[in-house]
Amino acid sequence: MHTRKRVGLVAHDGRKKDLIEWAKFNEGTLARHDLYATGTTGHLLMKACPSLAITCLKSGPLGGDQQLGAMIAEGRLDVLIFMTDPMTAQPHDVDVKALTRLSTVYNIVLAMTRSTADFVINSEFFDRREYTPVRADYESHTNRHASH
Ligand code: PGA
Repeated sequence: MHTRKRVGLVAHDGRKKDLIEWAKFNEGTLARHDLYATGTTGHLLMKACPSLAITCLKSGPLGGDQQLGAMIAEGRLDVLIFMTDPMTAQPHDVDVKALTRLSTVYNIVLAMTRSTADFVINSEFFDRREYTPVRADYESHTNRHASH
């Protein structure tokens, strides 16, 4: 991971205010990184934080979560700030689970609470140092049907 990180930003409707407040507070730091967001979240963030250039994907329930999942699987995302709403059922719950699961599979940085997001963005690994995440070895899984 380079010092410039590739950061995903997603907030469920009940958490968008939270993420926007957090992003405004950290706008200067975020501006030094490559930012990706699900559609609605991204457009709201750019309106609130004019200095941020964000690549907006599809809206989460329309496939945006899965686009971020594909980026993770392909090694194109380093950090995911994912503000889920614990009080509201989501129509795309399976996509939400897939996104958190892939974050774990590929050991990317995943923040789901504002406190964790504060710790992440204030870590020296966030924009002052390179970081090499430990990657799990899934070779035995990949080769489980290989003939001996
Ligand atoms: P949205 O999607 O940014 O398009 O609202 C967020 C989500 O995954 O619910």
